[in-house]
Amino acid sequence: MTHANGALGATPVRPSLLEVRDVTVAYRVPGGGANVALSGVALAVHEGEWLAVIGHNGSGKSTLAKLMNGLLIPGRGDVIVAGMNTRETALHRAIRQTVGVVFQDPEDQIVATLVEEDVAFGPENLGLARDEVRALVQSALDAIDAQDLRLRAPHQLSGGQKQRVAIAGVLAMRPRCIVLDESTAMLDPEGRREVLDVVARLHRAGTTIVAVTHFMSEAALADRIVVLSEGRIALEGVPREIFGDRERLRALDLDVPPVAQVAERARALGVGVRGLPLTVGEFVTALP
Ligand code: ADP
Ligand code: MG
Repeated sequence: MTHANGALGATPVRPSLLEVRDVTVAYRVPGGGANVALSGVALAVHEGEWLAVIGHNGSGKSTLAKLMNGLLIPGRGDVIVAGMNTRETALHRAIRQTVGVVFQDPEDQIVATLVEEDVAFGPENLGLARDEVRALVQSALDAIDAQDLRLRAPHQLSGGQKQRVAIAGVLAMRPRCIVLDESTAMLDPEGRREVLDVVARLHRAGTTIVAVTHFMSEAALADRIVVLSEGRIALEGVPREIFGDRERLRALDLDVPPVAQVAERARALGVGVRGLPLTVGEFVTALP
């Protein structure tokens, strides 16, 4: 189908990098039976977008994250990464080079005793030449702004630094998409800030981001939000739509970002805050 409208025709069509097609995942539980983690989930992630995934504990967020680079294969439905079906084992290497996953606990992701060795681990396993590996490590450390950490021992770093090194390890594979599964959850505010700055920079440079988070303030930074509830997509839209629908949010037992709560309280006290500020920057400009 084509649009006759010239103005619409000028809108760039963003192809899907990742497609989750009507996926159901059930985990076997000891003693028989199954735990349905995702049920009939369909989702497309567009090249270059920053998608936030939110939802309660047990809603299926990590299961969705693991589907995205073939760490988990769906029981029903398909996951297509840049045209590759994750069911095809022969494609797993190419799929994992396309989509890298960063997990919650940075400790789990450290594999070497020096930062530069840790970051080199992925490309070395691809069997790349030493010079190529060195160049990839260099640019990955540049991307996380951490050339100074190159010869440090990962276990001596702060949580935020460790998580940035884990991101560098993924970046060294030159992925088109990075999936972060609550990668800021264990960090202090400073560490969260460091990691978010890196994510924002990667997004600006064109990397596709899928960020699972329980921080509404982080979800507010994304281009689009998907809300999972009991293994299904309950809501989907731009942050302003999601956080503007207080009824639905309340029904899902979720809240607006803290900044929006402050704005509401200020308004209740008679301060004329305009609209629905979702970030500190928006709050400042929303003040009378
Ligand atoms: P979230 O990341 O949103 O907390 P998960 O994807 O980890 O959700 O889990 C979704 C559901 O699947 C939960 O009910 C959880 O208990 C169940 N689950 C997750 N992993 C396993 C597993 N390895 N074995 C059995 N059940 C699991
Ligand atoms: Mg999880």
